[in-house]
Amino acid sequence: MIDKQQLIKRFISYVTIDTESDPNSDTTPSSAKQWDLANKLAKELKDMGMSDVSIDENAYIMATLPSNVEHDVPVIGFISHFDTTPDFTGANVKPQIVENYQGEDLVLNAEENIILSPDYFEDLLLYKGQTLITTDGTTLLGADDKAGITEIMEAMKYLINNPQIKHGTIKVGFTPDEEIGRGAHKFNVEKFGADWAYTMDGSQIGELEYENFNAAGATVKVNGKIVHPGYAKGKMINSMYFATEFINALPRLETPEHTEGYEGFFHLYSIDGLVEETTLKYIIRDHDKDIFEARKALLEKVVFDLNTKFENEVFEIDIKDQYFNMKEKVEPVMHIVDIAEEAMKALDIKPLIKPIRGGTDGSQLSYMGLPCPNIFAGGHNFHGRYEYVPVESMIKATEVICKIAEITAEKYKG
Ligand SMILES: [Zn+2]
Repeated sequence: MIDKQQLIKRFISYVTIDTESDPNSDTTPSSAKQWDLANKLAKELKDMGMSDVSIDENAYIMATLPSNVEHDVPVIGFISHFDTTPDFTGANVKPQIVENYQGEDLVLNAEENIILSPDYFEDLLLYKGQTLITTDGTTLLGADDKAGITEIMEAMKYLINNPQIKHGTIKVGFTPDEEIGRGAHKFNVEKFGADWAYTMDGSQIGELEYENFNAAGATVKVNGKIVHPGYAKGKMINSMYFATEFINALPRLETPEHTEGYEGFFHLYSIDGLVEETTLKYIIRDHDKDIFEARKALLEKVVFDLNTKFENEVFEIDIKDQYFNMKEKVEPVMHIVDIAEEAMKALDIKPLIKPIRGGTDGSQLSYMGLPCPNIFAGGHNFHGRYEYVPVESMIKATEVICKIAEITAEKYKG
Protein backbone atom coordinates (compact mmCIF):
# COMPACT_ATOMS: atom_id res chain seq x y z
CA MET A 1 0.00 0.00 0.00
CA ILE A 2 1.03 3.60 -0.60
CA ASP A 3 2.01 5.18 2.73
CA LYS A 4 -0.43 8.06 3.22
CA GLN A 5 1.61 9.95 5.83
CA GLN A 6 4.79 9.64 3.77
CA LEU A 7 2.97 10.96 0.72
CA ILE A 8 1.57 13.95 2.64
CA LYS A 9 5.01 14.71 4.08
CA ARG A 10 6.60 14.57 0.64
CA PHE A 11 3.91 16.78 -0.93
CA ILE A 12 4.27 19.41 1.81
CA SER A 13 8.05 19.40 1.46
CA TYR A 14 7.57 20.31 -2.23
CA VAL A 15 4.80 22.93 -2.00
CA THR A 16 6.63 24.85 0.71
CA ILE A 17 9.43 25.57 -1.76
CA ASP A 18 8.57 28.60 -3.90
CA THR A 19 9.01 27.79 -7.62
CA GLU A 20 6.97 30.51 -9.32
CA SER A 21 7.96 30.86 -12.99
CA ASP A 22 8.53 34.24 -14.63
CA PRO A 23 7.17 35.00 -18.13
CA ASN A 24 9.37 38.11 -18.38
CA SER A 25 12.60 36.15 -18.14
CA ASP A 26 14.39 34.59 -21.10
CA THR A 27 16.42 32.10 -19.11
CA THR A 28 15.56 28.46 -18.43
CA PRO A 29 14.48 27.95 -15.78
CA SER A 30 12.81 31.35 -15.92
CA SER A 31 13.35 31.91 -12.19
CA ALA A 32 16.47 30.83 -10.27
CA LYS A 33 14.40 29.64 -7.33
CA GLN A 34 13.13 26.69 -9.39
CA TRP A 35 16.59 25.19 -8.86
CA ASP A 36 15.84 24.84 -5.14
CA LEU A 37 13.23 22.17 -5.79
CA ALA A 38 14.91 20.77 -8.91
CA ASN A 39 18.13 19.95 -7.03
CA LYS A 40 16.16 18.42 -4.19
CA LEU A 41 14.21 16.20 -6.62
CA ALA A 42 17.34 15.02 -8.41
CA LYS A 43 18.92 14.10 -5.08
CA GLU A 44 15.80 12.26 -3.91
CA LEU A 45 15.63 10.27 -7.16
CA LYS A 46 19.24 9.15 -6.63
CA ASP A 47 18.69 8.38 -2.96
CA MET A 48 15.69 6.16 -3.68
CA GLY A 49 17.74 4.10 -6.12
CA MET A 50 16.66 5.37 -9.55
CA SER A 51 19.21 4.91 -12.37
CA ASP A 52 20.68 7.46 -14.82
CA VAL A 53 19.48 10.42 -12.77
CA SER A 54 20.36 13.61 -14.62
CA ILE A 55 19.65 17.31 -14.24
CA ASP A 56 20.72 19.43 -17.20
CA GLU A 57 21.76 23.08 -17.44
CA ASN A 58 18.11 24.10 -17.84
CA ALA A 59 16.97 22.12 -14.76
CA TYR A 60 15.21 19.36 -16.73
CA ILE A 61 15.38 16.20 -14.64
CA MET A 62 15.32 12.68 -16.05
CA ALA A 63 15.66 9.29 -14.39
CA THR A 64 15.18 5.63 -15.19
CA LEU A 65 13.65 2.71 -13.37
CA PRO A 66 15.10 -0.36 -15.11
CA SER A 67 12.85 -3.17 -16.29
CA ASN A 68 12.50 -6.19 -14.01
CA VAL A 69 11.20 -8.59 -16.67
CA GLU A 70 12.97 -10.70 -19.28
CA HIS A 71 10.75 -9.88 -22.27
CA ASP A 72 10.75 -6.66 -24.30
CA VAL A 73 8.32 -4.03 -23.09
CA PRO A 74 7.86 -0.54 -24.61
CA VAL A 75 9.53 2.17 -22.54
CA ILE A 76 6.94 4.43 -20.92
CA GLY A 77 7.43 7.77 -19.20
CA PHE A 78 5.72 9.90 -16.56
CA ILE A 79 6.14 13.67 -16.62
CA SER A 80 5.28 16.56 -14.31
CA HIS A 81 6.32 20.18 -13.91
CA PHE A 82 7.74 21.69 -10.74
CA ASP A 83 7.07 25.39 -11.39
CA THR A 84 3.91 27.16 -10.26
CA THR A 85 1.94 29.83 -12.10
CA PRO A 86 2.89 33.52 -11.88
CA ASP A 87 -0.87 34.29 -11.73
CA PHE A 88 -0.87 34.03 -7.94
CA THR A 89 1.84 33.99 -5.31
CA GLY A 90 3.48 30.70 -4.41
CA ALA A 91 5.77 32.11 -1.71
CA ASN A 92 5.32 31.08 1.92
CA VAL A 93 2.74 28.39 1.22
CA LYS A 94 1.29 27.20 4.53
CA PRO A 95 -0.69 24.06 3.78
CA GLN A 96 -3.58 23.14 6.06
CA ILE A 97 -4.69 19.55 6.49
CA VAL A 98 -8.37 18.77 6.98
CA GLU A 99 -8.97 15.21 8.12
CA ASN A 100 -12.28 13.48 7.49
CA TYR A 101 -13.91 16.34 5.58
CA GLN A 102 -17.69 16.38 6.07
CA GLY A 103 -18.91 18.88 3.46
CA GLU A 104 -18.65 21.93 5.71
CA ASP A 105 -17.35 25.41 4.85
CA LEU A 106 -13.60 25.56 5.43
CA VAL A 107 -12.28 28.78 6.90
CA LEU A 108 -8.94 29.18 5.16
CA ASN A 109 -8.18 32.49 6.77
CA ALA A 110 -10.30 33.87 9.61
CA GLU A 111 -8.56 37.24 9.64
CA GLU A 112 -9.31 37.93 5.98
CA ASN A 113 -12.57 35.96 5.96
CA ILE A 114 -11.48 33.63 3.16
CA ILE A 115 -13.76 30.60 3.00
CA LEU A 116 -13.60 27.49 0.84
CA SER A 117 -17.25 26.52 0.55
CA PRO A 118 -19.06 23.71 -1.29
CA ASP A 119 -21.84 26.26 -2.00
CA TYR A 120 -19.49 27.71 -4.57
CA PHE A 121 -17.06 24.84 -5.19
CA GLU A 122 -19.50 21.89 -5.41
CA ASP A 123 -16.68 19.46 -6.22
CA LEU A 124 -15.73 19.51 -2.54
CA LEU A 125 -18.73 17.27 -1.86
CA LEU A 126 -17.10 14.48 -3.88
CA TYR A 127 -14.55 14.13 -1.09
CA LYS A 128 -16.61 13.64 2.07
CA GLY A 129 -14.72 11.49 4.54
CA GLN A 130 -11.37 12.21 2.88
CA THR A 131 -8.28 14.18 3.85
CA LEU A 132 -7.99 17.55 2.09
CA ILE A 133 -4.93 19.75 1.84
CA THR A 134 -5.77 23.45 1.40
CA THR A 135 -3.96 26.79 1.49
CA ASP A 136 -4.14 29.35 4.29
CA GLY A 137 -6.01 31.63 1.88
CA THR A 138 -3.08 33.89 1.05
CA THR A 139 -1.21 31.82 -1.58
CA LEU A 140 -1.86 29.13 -4.14
CA LEU A 141 -1.17 25.56 -3.03
CA GLY A 142 0.96 24.28 -5.89
CA ALA A 143 -0.80 20.94 -6.26
CA ASP A 144 -0.46 21.99 -9.92
CA ASP A 145 1.80 20.22 -10.38
CA LYS A 146 3.62 19.17 -7.24
CA ALA A 147 0.83 16.65 -6.72
CA GLY A 148 1.97 15.05 -9.99
CA ILE A 149 5.60 15.07 -8.87
CA THR A 150 4.68 13.56 -5.50
CA GLU A 151 2.71 10.79 -7.21
CA ILE A 152 5.49 9.88 -9.62
CA MET A 153 8.06 9.85 -6.80
CA GLU A 154 5.85 7.72 -4.55
CA ALA A 155 5.09 5.34 -7.44
CA MET A 156 8.78 4.85 -8.24
CA LYS A 157 9.56 4.26 -4.57
CA TYR A 158 6.73 1.75 -4.40
CA LEU A 159 7.87 -0.15 -7.50
CA ILE A 160 11.46 -0.24 -6.18
CA ASN A 161 10.30 -1.60 -2.82
CA ASN A 162 7.91 -4.11 -4.40
CA PRO A 163 9.85 -5.99 -7.07
CA GLN A 164 7.10 -8.59 -7.27
CA ILE A 165 5.25 -6.02 -9.41
CA LYS A 166 6.55 -6.64 -12.93
CA HIS A 167 7.21 -3.70 -15.23
CA GLY A 168 9.29 -2.62 -18.22
CA THR A 169 11.67 0.34 -18.27
CA ILE A 170 10.06 3.44 -16.77
CA LYS A 171 11.30 6.97 -17.44
CA VAL A 172 10.62 9.94 -15.19
CA GLY A 173 10.78 13.55 -16.39
CA PHE A 174 10.36 16.73 -14.33
CA THR A 175 10.29 20.08 -16.13
CA PRO A 176 10.50 23.79 -15.27
CA ASP A 177 8.36 26.59 -16.76
CA GLU A 178 5.26 24.68 -17.85
CA GLU A 179 3.03 27.45 -16.53
CA ILE A 180 4.54 29.99 -18.91
CA GLY A 181 4.15 27.63 -21.86
CA ARG A 182 7.78 26.57 -22.12
CA GLY A 183 7.86 23.27 -20.25
CA ALA A 184 8.31 21.19 -23.38
CA HIS A 185 10.57 23.62 -25.24
CA LYS A 186 13.90 22.27 -24.03
CA PHE A 187 12.72 18.75 -23.26
CA ASN A 188 15.14 16.32 -24.90
CA VAL A 189 12.75 13.70 -26.26
CA GLU A 190 15.55 11.61 -27.72
CA LYS A 191 17.48 11.48 -24.45
CA PHE A 192 14.28 10.65 -22.56
CA GLY A 193 13.98 7.61 -24.79
CA ALA A 194 10.38 6.61 -24.09
CA ASP A 195 7.94 5.18 -26.64
CA TRP A 196 5.17 7.17 -25.05
CA ALA A 197 4.52 9.06 -21.82
CA TYR A 198 1.82 10.53 -19.60
CA THR A 199 1.80 13.95 -18.00
CA MET A 200 0.42 13.70 -14.46
CA ASP A 201 -1.07 17.18 -14.62
CA GLY A 202 -4.86 16.86 -14.76
CA SER A 203 -7.33 17.84 -12.08
CA GLN A 204 -10.18 15.69 -10.73
CA ILE A 205 -9.72 11.99 -10.05
CA GLY A 206 -10.44 9.96 -13.20
CA GLU A 207 -9.47 12.64 -15.72
CA LEU A 208 -7.80 11.23 -18.81
CA GLU A 209 -7.21 13.60 -21.69
CA TYR A 210 -5.81 13.18 -25.17
CA GLU A 211 -7.57 15.98 -27.05
CA ASN A 212 -6.74 19.65 -26.68
CA PHE A 213 -7.29 22.83 -28.64
CA ASN A 214 -5.55 23.85 -31.83
CA ALA A 215 -4.35 27.31 -30.95
CA ALA A 216 -3.30 30.49 -32.70
CA GLY A 217 -2.84 34.12 -31.78
CA ALA A 218 -3.83 37.07 -33.99
CA THR A 219 -2.80 40.70 -33.80
CA VAL A 220 -4.98 43.14 -35.73
CA LYS A 221 -3.48 46.55 -36.33
CA VAL A 222 -5.89 49.32 -37.26
CA ASN A 223 -4.24 52.38 -38.79
CA GLY A 224 -5.81 55.81 -38.31
CA LYS A 225 -4.92 59.40 -39.04
CA ILE A 226 -4.78 62.14 -36.41
CA VAL A 227 -5.78 65.67 -37.38
CA HIS A 228 -6.83 68.63 -35.19
CA PRO A 229 -10.43 67.76 -34.24
CA GLY A 230 -11.63 71.25 -35.20
CA TYR A 231 -10.44 70.82 -38.76
CA ALA A 232 -10.83 67.08 -39.18
CA LYS A 233 -13.80 66.81 -41.53
CA GLY A 234 -13.00 64.37 -44.30
CA LYS A 235 -9.46 63.94 -43.01
CA MET A 236 -9.34 62.24 -39.63
CA ILE A 237 -9.41 58.44 -39.53
CA ASN A 238 -10.21 57.35 -35.98
CA SER A 239 -8.77 53.86 -35.73
CA MET A 240 -10.86 53.07 -32.66
CA TYR A 241 -14.16 53.29 -34.57
CA PHE A 242 -12.74 51.11 -37.30
CA ALA A 243 -11.60 48.64 -34.66
CA THR A 244 -15.21 48.24 -33.51
CA GLU A 245 -16.17 47.39 -37.10
CA PHE A 246 -13.71 44.52 -36.94
CA ILE A 247 -14.87 43.34 -33.53
CA ASN A 248 -18.51 43.38 -34.61
CA ALA A 249 -17.79 41.48 -37.82
CA LEU A 250 -16.92 38.35 -35.79
CA PRO A 251 -19.63 36.03 -34.44
CA ARG A 252 -20.51 37.43 -31.01
CA LEU A 253 -21.49 34.06 -29.54
CA GLU A 254 -18.28 32.28 -30.51
CA THR A 255 -16.43 33.57 -27.48
CA PRO A 256 -15.16 31.83 -24.32
CA GLU A 257 -18.14 32.97 -22.24
CA HIS A 258 -20.62 31.38 -24.68
CA THR A 259 -18.89 28.08 -25.49
CA GLU A 260 -18.04 24.72 -23.88
CA GLY A 261 -17.08 21.14 -24.77
CA TYR A 262 -15.92 20.94 -28.37
CA GLU A 263 -17.07 24.47 -29.26
CA GLY A 264 -14.22 26.70 -30.38
CA PHE A 265 -13.96 30.48 -30.12
CA PHE A 266 -12.36 33.80 -30.96
CA HIS A 267 -11.23 35.53 -27.79
CA LEU A 268 -10.52 39.25 -27.85
CA TYR A 269 -8.27 39.70 -24.82
CA SER A 270 -6.74 43.12 -25.36
CA ILE A 271 -7.51 46.47 -26.99
CA ASP A 272 -4.93 49.20 -27.05
CA GLY A 273 -6.20 52.29 -28.84
CA LEU A 274 -5.51 55.88 -29.84
CA VAL A 275 -6.87 57.78 -32.83
CA GLU A 276 -3.76 57.02 -34.84
CA GLU A 277 -3.51 53.35 -34.12
CA THR A 278 -5.48 50.61 -32.38
CA THR A 279 -4.25 47.10 -31.74
CA LEU A 280 -6.60 44.18 -31.09
CA LYS A 281 -5.27 40.91 -29.75
CA TYR A 282 -7.11 37.64 -30.17
CA ILE A 283 -6.58 34.00 -29.42
CA ILE A 284 -8.27 31.48 -31.69
CA ARG A 285 -9.13 28.03 -30.38
CA ASP A 286 -10.78 24.93 -31.85
CA HIS A 287 -10.42 21.16 -31.41
CA ASP A 288 -11.29 20.51 -35.04
CA LYS A 289 -8.41 21.17 -37.42
CA ASP A 290 -10.63 22.18 -40.36
CA ILE A 291 -12.77 24.54 -38.31
CA PHE A 292 -9.58 25.96 -36.78
CA GLU A 293 -8.25 26.71 -40.26
CA ALA A 294 -11.63 28.20 -41.21
CA ARG A 295 -11.52 30.47 -38.17
CA LYS A 296 -8.13 31.83 -39.20
CA ALA A 297 -9.38 32.25 -42.78
CA LEU A 298 -12.41 34.18 -41.50
CA LEU A 299 -10.16 36.70 -39.72
CA GLU A 300 -8.21 37.24 -42.94
CA LYS A 301 -11.45 37.62 -44.89
CA VAL A 302 -12.86 40.21 -42.48
CA VAL A 303 -9.68 42.24 -42.89
CA PHE A 304 -9.93 41.97 -46.67
CA ASP A 305 -13.63 42.84 -46.75
CA LEU A 306 -13.28 45.85 -44.45
CA ASN A 307 -10.30 47.19 -46.36
CA THR A 308 -12.36 46.83 -49.55
CA LYS A 309 -15.46 48.41 -48.00
CA PHE A 310 -13.58 51.47 -46.76
CA GLU A 311 -11.36 51.65 -49.83
CA ASN A 312 -8.42 52.04 -47.51
CA GLU A 313 -5.66 49.85 -46.12
CA VAL A 314 -6.80 50.49 -42.57
CA PHE A 315 -6.49 46.92 -41.31
CA GLU A 316 -3.46 44.64 -41.05
CA ILE A 317 -3.41 41.21 -39.47
CA ASP A 318 -0.73 38.84 -38.25
CA ILE A 319 -1.72 35.29 -37.26
CA LYS A 320 0.65 32.85 -35.57
CA ASP A 321 0.00 29.19 -34.72
CA GLN A 322 0.72 28.35 -31.08
CA TYR A 323 0.04 24.63 -30.55
CA PHE A 324 -2.02 21.81 -32.02
CA ASN A 325 -4.47 19.14 -30.89
CA MET A 326 -2.50 16.11 -29.70
CA LYS A 327 -5.38 13.85 -30.84
CA GLU A 328 -3.78 13.67 -34.26
CA LYS A 329 -0.62 12.15 -32.74
CA VAL A 330 -2.34 10.00 -30.11
CA GLU A 331 -5.11 8.39 -32.16
CA PRO A 332 -2.67 6.30 -34.25
CA VAL A 333 -1.38 4.84 -30.96
CA MET A 334 -4.70 4.71 -29.16
CA HIS A 335 -3.61 1.72 -27.04
CA ILE A 336 -1.70 4.18 -24.82
CA VAL A 337 -5.01 5.76 -23.80
CA ASP A 338 -6.65 2.34 -23.50
CA ILE A 339 -3.95 1.16 -21.08
CA ALA A 340 -4.51 4.20 -18.84
CA GLU A 341 -8.26 3.62 -18.95
CA GLU A 342 -7.80 -0.05 -18.10
CA ALA A 343 -5.52 0.88 -15.18
CA MET A 344 -8.15 3.23 -13.77
CA LYS A 345 -10.94 0.69 -14.10
CA ALA A 346 -8.79 -1.96 -12.38
CA LEU A 347 -8.54 0.48 -9.45
CA ASP A 348 -12.27 1.29 -9.38
CA ILE A 349 -11.73 4.78 -10.75
CA LYS A 350 -14.30 6.01 -13.24
CA PRO A 351 -12.37 7.39 -16.23
CA LEU A 352 -13.46 10.92 -17.18
CA ILE A 353 -12.36 11.30 -20.78
CA LYS A 354 -12.99 14.80 -22.08
CA PRO A 355 -11.38 17.35 -24.39
CA ILE A 356 -9.05 19.86 -22.74
CA ARG A 357 -10.10 23.45 -23.41
CA GLY A 358 -6.51 24.55 -23.48
CA GLY A 359 -3.14 23.01 -24.13
CA THR A 360 -0.72 20.87 -22.16
CA ASP A 361 2.97 20.18 -22.33
CA GLY A 362 1.86 16.80 -23.58
CA SER A 363 0.43 18.35 -26.75
CA GLN A 364 3.79 19.89 -27.59
CA LEU A 365 5.65 16.70 -26.66
CA SER A 366 3.28 14.70 -28.85
CA TYR A 367 4.31 16.85 -31.82
CA MET A 368 7.97 16.42 -30.82
CA GLY A 369 7.60 12.65 -31.23
CA LEU A 370 6.52 11.60 -27.73
CA PRO A 371 2.77 10.85 -27.68
CA CYS A 372 1.68 12.08 -24.28
CA PRO A 373 -1.88 11.98 -22.88
CA ASN A 374 -2.68 13.69 -19.58
CA ILE A 375 -3.81 11.96 -16.38
CA PHE A 376 -5.37 13.46 -13.24
CA ALA A 377 -3.09 14.58 -10.44
CA GLY A 378 -6.07 15.19 -8.15
CA GLY A 379 -6.07 18.91 -7.34
CA HIS A 380 -8.86 21.45 -7.85
CA ASN A 381 -9.14 25.24 -8.35
CA PHE A 382 -5.64 25.59 -9.76
CA HIS A 383 -3.83 28.93 -9.88
CA GLY A 384 -5.39 30.58 -6.87
CA ARG A 385 -6.03 30.72 -3.15
CA TYR A 386 -8.87 28.17 -3.28
CA GLU A 387 -6.65 25.41 -4.65
CA TYR A 388 -6.95 22.14 -2.73
CA VAL A 389 -6.15 18.48 -3.19
CA PRO A 390 -7.71 15.36 -1.64
CA VAL A 391 -4.94 13.04 -0.43
CA GLU A 392 -6.97 10.00 -1.47
CA SER A 393 -6.92 11.24 -5.11
CA MET A 394 -3.14 11.53 -4.94
CA ILE A 395 -2.89 7.99 -3.63
CA LYS A 396 -5.13 6.79 -6.49
CA ALA A 397 -2.99 8.62 -9.05
CA THR A 398 0.10 6.96 -7.58
CA GLU A 399 -1.60 3.58 -7.94
CA VAL A 400 -2.58 4.41 -11.54
CA ILE A 401 1.09 4.96 -12.39
CA CYS A 402 2.08 1.59 -10.91
CA LYS A 403 -0.86 -0.14 -12.61
CA ILE A 404 -0.06 1.32 -16.02
CA ALA A 405 3.50 0.00 -15.66
CA GLU A 406 2.18 -3.41 -14.67
CA ILE A 407 -0.45 -3.65 -17.42
CA THR A 408 2.02 -2.57 -20.10
CA ALA A 409 4.49 -5.29 -19.08
CA GLU A 410 1.71 -7.86 -19.02
CA LYS A 411 0.39 -6.87 -22.47
CA TYR A 412 3.74 -7.39 -24.16
CA LYS A 413 4.40 -10.78 -22.62
CA GLY A 414 5.11 -12.82 -25.76
ZN1 LIG B 1 0.05 22.00 -14.40
